[in-house]
Amino acid sequence: MITRKVRKWEKLPGKNTFCCDGRVMMARQKGVFYLTLFLIIGTCSLFFAFECPYLAVNLSPAIPVFAALLFLFVMAMLLRTSFSDPGVLPRALPEEATFIEMEIEAANGNVPAGQRPPPRIRNVQINNQIVKLKYCYTCKIFRPPRASHCSICDNCVDRFDHHCPWVGNCVGKRNYRYFYLFTLSLSLLTIYIFTFDIVHVVMRKYPVLVCFFTLWSVVGLTGFHTYLISLNQTTNEDIKGSWSGKNRVQNPYSHKNIIKNCCEVLCGPAYPSVLDRRGLMQEDSPASETSPPSSSSMNSVPQTTKTTAPLIPNEHTPDDVKPSIADSAEKTPSPKEEESPAPKLPPLASPETDAETSIIKDKAH
Ligand SMILES: [Zn+2]
Ligand SMILES: [Zn+2]
Repeated sequence: MITRKVRKWEKLPGKNTFCCDGRVMMARQKGVFYLTLFLIIGTCSLFFAFECPYLAVNLSPAIPVFAALLFLFVMAMLLRTSFSDPGVLPRALPEEATFIEMEIEAANGNVPAGQRPPPRIRNVQINNQIVKLKYCYTCKIFRPPRASHCSICDNCVDRFDHHCPWVGNCVGKRNYRYFYLFTLSLSLLTIYIFTFDIVHVVMRKYPVLVCFFTLWSVVGLTGFHTYLISLNQTTNEDIKGSWSGKNRVQNPYSHKNIIKNCCEVLCGPAYPSVLDRRGLMQEDSPASETSPPSSSSMNSVPQTTKTTAPLIPNEHTPDDVKPSIADSAEKTPSPKEEESPAPKLPPLASPETDAETSIIKDKAH
C-alpha cells in the first residue's frame, strides 16, 4: 500500500468542480454562468463606451464613476455567490451510515417482503412546531431542517434556497445574502443604466436602449427575494408550501416581524464551511504492481459511489423531485410518528450539524 496526502476536495463525492486548489467551488454546469458574465459585462461596456462620454461632459462626470462603482460591487457579489461553498453538508462516513441504517431497521422492525417500509422521518420540535427531518438516501444522513438535496450538485445543502444556473452554484445558508445583494445591486445598476439611457436618448435624439428586457426580470426577482426575506422563508419552502398552513405548521423560523427577519437573514452570523475542503487527508492506494491496469486513484472513486448509492432507489425520487408525493405522505402521518413528539436528535455526521441541533434546542426553549 502507498499512502499519499491529498486535499479533501479531491475526494468529495458531490458533482462540484474546484479550482485554485479547492478555494473556488462551483456546480459542474457553468454555461449559464458565463452567459450571466457576458450579459452584465457586455451591457456595461456598451453603456461606458457609447453613452458615458456624452453624459460625463454634458451632465456630470459623477455618472460614469457611480456606474463603475456599482458595476464592481455587482461583480464582487456575483463571484462571492458563485465561487463559495453554499453550505454543503458532508455525507455520513461508511461506519456512521451503517450505524444509522441499523438504528432505522431496529426502529422499524421487520417489514414483510413486498411491503414498502415506512418513510424515514424524524420529528424535532422547533419553536413549538413539529418539523420533520427527512432521511437522505444518497448522503445517509437525516437532513437538518430546511436542508435539501440538490440533484444537480448531488449534495445536501443547508438552508437550501434553490440551485441557480445563472450564478452556477446552489444558493444556501452560506451564500444567500450575497446572492440577494447581487440581485439587489444588479437591479439598481439596471435601473441606473436604463434611466441614463432614456436621458441620453432625449438629449441627443439618438436611439440606444440597453437593458430594457433585463430590467423587469431582475427587478422582479429582487422583489420576490425581498418578500421571502421579510418572511424568513426559502424559495424551496415557498414552492413546496412548507409553511402555507395546510400542514398546520407555521414557519418556526419567522420572528413575525419583517425587520427582525431581514436582520437575521442579511446581518446574522456568517457560517463557516464544514467541508474543510483544503484540509489534508491520507489516501491509501494499492501498489502499482498489484493493481489492475486502470489507475488506482481513479478506482477508489466508483467504490465510494457504490457505498453511498441509495438502498431503496425509488424512495429517493419522491423525496426530492416530486414534492407533491412527499407532501401527501406528510398529510397522513402514521400514528407511530404522531406518538413520538419528544424530539429524538439524530446522530448527525458532523460537528456543524451537532451545532445545528443545539441551536434547535435553544430555539425550542
Ligand atoms: Zn443528500
Ligand atoms: Zn446545486
